[in-house]
Amino acid sequence: MPTAYEPVIGLEIHAQLKTASKAFCACPTTFGAKPNVNTCPICLGHPGTLPVLNANLVTFAVRMGLATHCSIRPVSTFARKNYFYADLPKGYQISQYEDPICYQGFVEIEQEDETTKRIGITRIHMEEDSGKSIHDLDIDTLVDLNRAGVPLIEIVSEPDIRSAREAYLYLQQLRQILIYLDICDGNMEEGSLRCDANVSVRPVGTEPFGTKTEVKNLNSFRNVEKAIEYEIARQIEVLEAGGSVVQQTMMWDAGTQSTKVMRSKEMAHDYRYFPEPDLPPVEVSEAWVGELGKSLPELGLDKKRRFRSQYGLPAYDAGILVDDVELAHYYEQAVKGLKNPSNDTFKQVSNWMMTEILRIMGERKIGVSEVGLSPLQLASLVDVVADGTISNKTAKEIFPDLVGTERLAGEIVEERGLVQVSDVGALRAIVSEIVSANPDNVQKYREGKTKLLGFFVGQVLKATGGSANPNVATDLMREALDGQPAE
Ligand code: ADP
Ligand code: MG
Ligand code: ZN
Repeated sequence: MPTAYEPVIGLEIHAQLKTASKAFCACPTTFGAKPNVNTCPICLGHPGTLPVLNANLVTFAVRMGLATHCSIRPVSTFARKNYFYADLPKGYQISQYEDPICYQGFVEIEQEDETTKRIGITRIHMEEDSGKSIHDLDIDTLVDLNRAGVPLIEIVSEPDIRSAREAYLYLQQLRQILIYLDICDGNMEEGSLRCDANVSVRPVGTEPFGTKTEVKNLNSFRNVEKAIEYEIARQIEVLEAGGSVVQQTMMWDAGTQSTKVMRSKEMAHDYRYFPEPDLPPVEVSEAWVGELGKSLPELGLDKKRRFRSQYGLPAYDAGILVDDVELAHYYEQAVKGLKNPSNDTFKQVSNWMMTEILRIMGERKIGVSEVGLSPLQLASLVDVVADGTISNKTAKEIFPDLVGTERLAGEIVEERGLVQVSDVGALRAIVSEIVSANPDNVQKYREGKTKLLGFFVGQVLKATGGSANPNVATDLMREALDGQPAE
């Protein structure tokens, strides 16, 4: 019988923090500035300069720690991680080593089938980013030190992840938390969120972990999933062929969709960590941490659960709405503006957002606030359908007229004379005219061809220029044809 293997995965995630200035100097952190303008003697590593800790770095790290159920260390220290690289002018990176500020937490991930799982967080530590070497110009290797000293947190997971899909969901969950906390923009393409994946496999049913490899250079969610899948398959193949997995660092090559060896264990760095002598220990009081804990916003997964119970939304809708905190806020504003609140109208608001609003956002690559339709306008549109004033079809037609204006649906309905006829008396007269005018079809209907009901209702809609309320028209027509009173 062939051996079945189980993957074991742990992720190391670097998140660039949205502080205005760098970790240890006053330089701005703006992305995309001209090369080397955001620099000063401190982040350039000039001898004799002294780092000064940015308090926001600590605040953001602790907020993330609290949001991921970590313990917060009352006293933690910085250490120097020594290595030589062109984009690291000091010759070391200021990081944390043995006493990270946050430790032993977890995040909950929710699978597509809504089962949940906890992924442990080993540690979250504070550190500074390196500069950037730019190799892909023909001239030479260029160095841009704007990024040197930008604050990061590194979030290290326990090896609790068991598939590429789980890794994807975990990363998505962490990204959502970072964005909800407003401490990182989560942009993987621009490198403000970076992920390294540690992957090993073991025969199903065995305890000890296999030898792991670490895959770097994963700059999109898709690449994270693909690279892990590739690496799992590669390792299984090696083992099945009687070989053993070599502990090494790999690079994901998106071009060839494969992993390549970057360096092997023999070339592993010895960083010679030692305590950073220029920075005092970071002390955080229990009271301050308690205050930060109280100020945490409702996070995505909690919001999703609340949206499901409070508004009766399906998991799919709730998941999409909460994945963009602005969209979630917009949804709740719209729901608050409804004159006919019910699970049905709550779902209608979501439907408009899932279709028209997300479409506009995608086409124009904009946020919901730039769409040009206020939550109140959307509520007004859902309301005029819910109270029978217009049909859903008419609502679709006037939707574009609302966008970019401040008008409510009712005004447009009135101005364009779109109010649908629900007046039973008026419709009954039309119904009996149509019944008299179509004796052949009436006979066929009564002989059992009940599908003709659609034809008759269509005639009513036609006679009223589309303004008849289709539900009322159907009831009245059935009553006339079946010879039984409606209601
Ligand atoms: P290293 O010393 O090589 O950096 P760590 O113990 O610090 O290794 O772990 C780094 C990451 O690798 C963590 O996210 C951890 O969960 C994960 N990890 C550790 N051992 C394994 C393994 N055997 N297979 C997969 N992932 C692992
Ligand atoms: Mg490590
Ligand atoms: Zn600086």
